[in-house]
Amino acid sequence: LLMVLALVLSLAACGGGEKPAPEDGATDEAAMIGVSMPTQSLQRWNQDGSNMKAKLEEAGYKVDLQYGGDNDIPTQVAQIENMITEGCKVLVIAAIDGSSLTEVLKQAKEQNIPVVAYDRLIMNSDAVSYYATFDNYQVGVMQGQYIETALDLKNQKGPFNVELFTGDPADNNATFFFNGAMSVLKPYIDSGVLVVPSGQTTQAQVSTQDWKTENAQSRMENLITSNGYSPKGKKLDAVMCSNDSTALGAVNALVSAGYTKDDMPIVTGQDCDKPNVKNMLQGLQSMSVFKDTRTLADKVVGMVDSIVKGSEPDINDKETYDNGTGVIPSYLCAPVVGTIDNYKELLIDSGYYKESDIQ
Ligand code: BGC
Repeated sequence: LLMVLALVLSLAACGGGEKPAPEDGATDEAAMIGVSMPTQSLQRWNQDGSNMKAKLEEAGYKVDLQYGGDNDIPTQVAQIENMITEGCKVLVIAAIDGSSLTEVLKQAKEQNIPVVAYDRLIMNSDAVSYYATFDNYQVGVMQGQYIETALDLKNQKGPFNVELFTGDPADNNATFFFNGAMSVLKPYIDSGVLVVPSGQTTQAQVSTQDWKTENAQSRMENLITSNGYSPKGKKLDAVMCSNDSTALGAVNALVSAGYTKDDMPIVTGQDCDKPNVKNMLQGLQSMSVFKDTRTLADKVVGMVDSIVKGSEPDINDKETYDNGTGVIPSYLCAPVVGTIDNYKELLIDSGYYKESDIQ
């Protein structure tokens, strides 16, 4: 009789057996998900933010989406603190500075709020449960290989002149992009096929504070002056830029110095930002690496959903990304090279942009 009673009670608790009991009461009421993005001043993060919000809402969640001013670390920290206080069930964070969230995430950990690092790894925090990004090293390899192929480095002795631009030193991705590109370019630098006339070849020497276009632009202006590059004089064959905001700065400086599509060096980039796609179409940038933010958003929504429902998120990398507290299980989406030859298929046919966005 006791067993029958227990069975009846447990069936009643399960709503007559039709529906599983929600774990921790999380799935029945719309759980709140905190989404913290670094800045609104770069197109890609606006897209990331709005894609995430739309897809999480579609999946039945409430969303607190915040942008950290214009890359302002204290603002991002305060916003995350607020998300913890208001009872967010999961935090999705693209850090401005990968190492500045250790303290605030202690609170998340204390309250058992799982954290998903979005696009950029959050360093030195054991509160980070998962990481979703693109294969950042591969992004750099693609940029290096583009230059290798465009200058036919395998078959030529050179020397070709190249300058390097990477991103913010506090962004863990910048190291992966730089190392990926250098894995292809460094052997040519070592053998003299490629020459870096400025002598600036370390990541620290070629980094761009906050990934800002104006910072890359002023460094390129200095490089032009101090090395005597000019369209008719000393040749600059390639500029390896880790992303589009830095590529835009380099190209702006080159255009101001008189370069046109006819003598523009090979310039690499990443993100397929609208101004850069326009530049590609005008012959002022050679390539970009397309990282479809819709794919990343989908992946992260899937992760959040698994976490809330208590199941294992989809992971495809368990060895690459150590944040100082151990390896963070990751999902790496695949980047794709974007050029004027495939932009239509990649960006227009896929619905990412309208043709009018990039004209
Ligand atoms: C992202 C790039 C972006 C850069 C600047 C990196 O962490 O992966 O897509 O261009 O930050 O915002």
